[in-house]
Amino acid sequence: MIKGRDIDGIMKNVTVSRRGKHWYISVQVEQEIPDPIPTQKPSVGIDMGVARFCTLSDGSFYTPLNSFKRLSKKLARLQRGLARKVKFSENWKKTKARITKLHEKIADVRRDYLHKLSRLIADKYGLVVVEDLRVSNMSASSRGTLERPGRNVKAKSGLNRSILDQGWSEFFRHLEYKLSWLGGWLEKVNPRNTSRTCPVCGHTDKENRRSQSRFRCVKCLFEGNADYVAAINIHTAGHAGINACGDGRPSLKQELPGNSDTVPTFFPVTPTA
Ligand SMILES: [Zn+2]
Repeated sequence: MIKGRDIDGIMKNVTVSRRGKHWYISVQVEQEIPDPIPTQKPSVGIDMGVARFCTLSDGSFYTPLNSFKRLSKKLARLQRGLARKVKFSENWKKTKARITKLHEKIADVRRDYLHKLSRLIADKYGLVVVEDLRVSNMSASSRGTLERPGRNVKAKSGLNRSILDQGWSEFFRHLEYKLSWLGGWLEKVNPRNTSRTCPVCGHTDKENRRSQSRFRCVKCLFEGNADYVAAINIHTAGHAGINACGDGRPSLKQELPGNSDTVPTFFPVTPTA
């Protein structure tokens, strides 16, 4: 047995599972841990996207991990091969095993990316504000029901495909628990108008959003990357919500962006192929 980490606490439950060729043992333990000390780290807003997996209000962004897209061609080829083979023949079994292995690889690559990225952000920030996307609801509405099939099923399932592929909800879940362990927290805000409001003068107009990637305020002419603008607005909305609810959380301040579209970019998380 290879032990990934030491087992602390009182063992309550052991689960044995198998994925492909490998067996896994999960141990559930019970342990008293002190409440984390509320953190003094800065806050950030995050906009989720398709072209960019996420854009932070500090100007950085992370490219999407289209592990599925990249590997799905390979998967499709194998599946075509499987269809041509005689069922339960030796070659059929070989191809079947390769397909199972590839599915595992896709899942592993995605999990690895989401864990590393959420760890990086949770370590750096105390308050993280994201859009309340209700990802699961979006997915359900495009499928519809048997009696009432969803409208624009094709278009929506295209977007959902990539949302699900990139695991937004999984990402939020990772962020939430990693932050809470460190004394930080995740705030979800209503995404209404976050892509149309000017972060400098506050003017809200659908004309502000020129294209998928460009934002230009029709009133004050502030210009910037649309995802970056949305991240700033999400950040602001998070602060407004926290300051308004007056539940004892500290009042938070933030700086307004400069009129520049040369935002710093970095890619500290290298997806493993
Ligand atoms: Zn403006």
